[in-house]
Amino acid sequence: MNFSNSNHLHTEALEHIVGGVNSPSRSYKAVGGGAPVAMKRAKGAYFWDVDDNRYIDYLAAYGPIITGHAHPHITEAIKTAAENGVLYGTPTPFEVDFAKMLKGAMPSLDKVRFVNSGTEAVMTTIRVARAYTGRDKIIKFEGCYHGHSDLVLVAAGSGPSQLGMPDSAGVPKSIAKEVITVPFNDIEPFKVAMEKWGNEIAAVLVEPIVGNFGIVEPHPGFLEQVNEVTHQAGALVIYDEVITAFRFMYGGAQNLLGVTPDLTAMGKIIGGGLPIGAYGGKKEIMEKVAPLGPAYQAGTMAGNPASILSGIACLEVLKEDGVYDRLDQLGALLEKGILDAAEKYNTPITINRLKGALTVYFTKEKVVNYKQAEATDGEMFAKFFKLMLEQGINLAPSKYEAWFITTAHTEEDIKETIQAVENAFSKL
Ligand code: PMP
Repeated sequence: MNFSNSNHLHTEALEHIVGGVNSPSRSYKAVGGGAPVAMKRAKGAYFWDVDDNRYIDYLAAYGPIITGHAHPHITEAIKTAAENGVLYGTPTPFEVDFAKMLKGAMPSLDKVRFVNSGTEAVMTTIRVARAYTGRDKIIKFEGCYHGHSDLVLVAAGSGPSQLGMPDSAGVPKSIAKEVITVPFNDIEPFKVAMEKWGNEIAAVLVEPIVGNFGIVEPHPGFLEQVNEVTHQAGALVIYDEVITAFRFMYGGAQNLLGVTPDLTAMGKIIGGGLPIGAYGGKKEIMEKVAPLGPAYQAGTMAGNPASILSGIACLEVLKEDGVYDRLDQLGALLEKGILDAAEKYNTPITINRLKGALTVYFTKEKVVNYKQAEATDGEMFAKFFKLMLEQGINLAPSKYEAWFITTAHTEEDIKETIQAVENAFSKL
């Protein structure tokens, strides 16, 4: 494959855009560097790059594009929004309809608020939890990503129940000290942390099914125990469902797992590809938000008709019968094909899959927490990533990301992908 236009574009982009990318995860730093492929068009399950190479896309824009690119129903909604004005700065009927839709899908939501990104949604749930409890600290789980606001850019302490150190320059140590990080899927360190700091904790923040060190499901009972211990301490449970909302079923991971948080943050899929975030939860907690309460949150673009109409259209598509079964079937087909190829070429992999989302880890070990994901073979993943790219399969350039299947993928696409995986494994 020829990538010369992508290469030239990257050289030019480096002159004008910091690092040549508008989000660090788009760079190929984690897969050995080089110019990231620049796309110019997308339709259904496919991308075309600036050199006119075609790709089957499993990035799905890091999750939002669950119905495939330029889905006709969503495109129609965006056209309608464009014709009627994309931003009013007033209440609209569309946002009320969409709030009702989200509430209908997730019973834990008494009231919601729309924002513009997952980062904003999570950031605000923390503020609201602090306003409600009058406490400052939060607990999060190692390797979970919750956007780039100061408080959650703290990942791994050197051990369980340690006060956090910032992961990013520019996050004050004083803020990072308010964050305690414990391992996912291990209740004991969590309990230890809660015993020590429980009465200072405003909220426990968790991705109920992890999407940020690969797809990792909670052990049975783990989230139930987190709920119990958190509530005993008078703190709130926040689910970050930015990846998981409408990913595995019509509703959230909370519906699938039968556990209920106090507050939920959403993003990605609920915008149908346009910028959005939303948060919501119990009435008495949400009523802490301005203008009803003292916790301030606002947004010029929040609830804009384009994002809202796009989101409604996306959920309408996802509500149709059989959508998630189909994603599951395609996921199972892909998983089996990759496992067969690994057996054929003796490639050490483990796959975590739930419905249409999966992660291929280069390890023989089971992956249930961040440390295990971290220990997987990044160099082998980097080689695999490039071998797949050269065969027209677009994956996220990181060993920690998921492959997302969309409703636009066909069995033929999956078969073509499996063939490419076989070729790649034969060369690893
Ligand atoms: N939470 C989770 C679980 C995420 O995966 C992400 C983005 N990958 C975010 C929050 C932040 O969302 P955004 O990039 O829309 O700000």
